[in-house]
Amino acid sequence: MSTALSPNVPRRPKPSRQLAEIALLSREERLAGRPKLCSDCGICTGELRPFMAQSCVFVNNRAEEIERRLHGRNRRDGDELLFGIYRDLRVFRMRPPVPDAQWSGAVTSLGALLLEHGLVEGVITTGAVPGTRYAPLPILARTPDEVRATRGNKPCLAPTLDVLTQVRQSGLRRIAYIGTGCQVHALRAIEDQLGLERLYVIGIPCTDNTTYPDLQRFLQVVSRSPETVIHHEFMQDFRIWLKHEDGSVEKVNFVDLDVDRLGGQLGVFPPACLSCFDYQNGLSDLTIGYMGAPLPPDERWQWTLIRTERGAELYDLLRSHVEEREPISGGDRTRGMPAYIQMLRQPRKRPPWPIRQLVAFIQRRSGPKGLEFARSVIEMKLLRNLQFVRERHGRLERRIVPGYVYRALARYADVYRREFNRDLEPSAS
Ligand SMILES: Cc1cc2nc3c(=O)[nH]c(=O)nc-3n(C[C@H](O)[C@H](O)[C@H](O)COP(=O)(O)OP(=O)(O)OC[C@H]3O[C@@H](n4cnc5c(N)ncnc54)[C@H](O)[C@@H]3O)c2cc1C
Ligand code: SF4
Ligand code: SF4
Repeated sequence: MSTALSPNVPRRPKPSRQLAEIALLSREERLAGRPKLCSDCGICTGELRPFMAQSCVFVNNRAEEIERRLHGRNRRDGDELLFGIYRDLRVFRMRPPVPDAQWSGAVTSLGALLLEHGLVEGVITTGAVPGTRYAPLPILARTPDEVRATRGNKPCLAPTLDVLTQVRQSGLRRIAYIGTGCQVHALRAIEDQLGLERLYVIGIPCTDNTTYPDLQRFLQVVSRSPETVIHHEFMQDFRIWLKHEDGSVEKVNFVDLDVDRLGGQLGVFPPACLSCFDYQNGLSDLTIGYMGAPLPPDERWQWTLIRTERGAELYDLLRSHVEEREPISGGDRTRGMPAYIQMLRQPRKRPPWPIRQLVAFIQRRSGPKGLEFARSVIEMKLLRNLQFVRERHGRLERRIVPGYVYRALARYADVYRREFNRDLEPSAS
């Protein structure tokens, strides 16, 4: 079997822990022995561990270097600073939407189509550990039905890159990969050393991920019936929608979330996800999400950012199976940012119930919509995470915060300086 992997990689690796077992572990258990920041992308669970230093986004964020390799340039001012480099943006849905998918099922449909057309021999995708709904189990799917069976989010850290070992052992040369930004960074960083003939990278946006035990805790706090939640999503109307087995939908305002009961943000989100600057999966061939698409959720509109030539090829494959509509954009995200920055510096207590209802009403009515909603959430996460890195992992800032973050947030530099008494730009020393 041919391989382009470095000779440093052990020929007879110790069998890695079963992925199904890893998925069920707590944060402390699964990240033991790893760097402080680790999203468990799968590089370090098996044979690829020697590639850690060169691929890990939390050791050295190489996003801008990889962008130049993929696109011959870095992000332009404007939307690219938030969305990543793209050549086309579409709002679309599968026709008809796939039942039980997270949205309309575009991601798994695309993986299945690639196999049906013989363009790839396998698809790395994430199913669920048997007996669970949400514990992620990454697999190498060899048939369209195997890919389709992985539809739906398992919103937990998933060591999907571990499956590359299996790809190598099976001698596959043409594969598709479905994953989140931190995983795609690591994959792109070592892509040239994997001996692949063809690689399609289908990205999903991702933020504030958790381990499986923490997800269960989260559902316990948020839902009136955590065991029966079959689908949940942070919607563009500033509410979490939780669908239950009996078909009922529970809606919880973001402002009603009792973060204190979760032990604060640090109690539920891993430090890695609070140090992540690639919500939109900027190094994929195309990213398929929902947050820039219009509501209502039961219409299941999605949006895609088509980034590379290969991404355009992927969307062409989907085209005859989808319907499209014009994107929408409304409101002004920049109005709320000064208050958000103030709140980051000095977190406020949760306001009383009537005030929360008023805030939620105003958010729904006058908050940003469509593309402006996407811009708003991405900006907030960039800023929150920059602040987290500065406060908790200051020495790492130079290595793990890419330059586009400062450019994207430049319009808030004055408010930032006023609130935090320091420059938004990194210091020269
Ligand atoms: C933790 C998390 C947070 C997300 N946050 C956002 C967000 O804020 N905004 C937004 O627009 N989109 C977000 N997404 C993506 C979005 O929810 C949908 O996954 C995406 O729109 C695809 O929907 P679909 O119906 O086309 O996918 P489906 O056809 O249902 O397929 C889902 C695909 O997701 C993959 N997948 C599921 N869980 C994981 C996982 N843990 N790690 C890697 N891959 C996984 C599966 O492999 C499967 O191929 C998030 C996804 C995850 C996992
Ligand atoms: S994020 Fe991935 S590469 Fe980095 S330490 Fe964790 S498993 Fe290893
Ligand atoms: S939030 Fe970022 S670091 Fe965490 S799993 Fe998602 S892409 Fe990876």
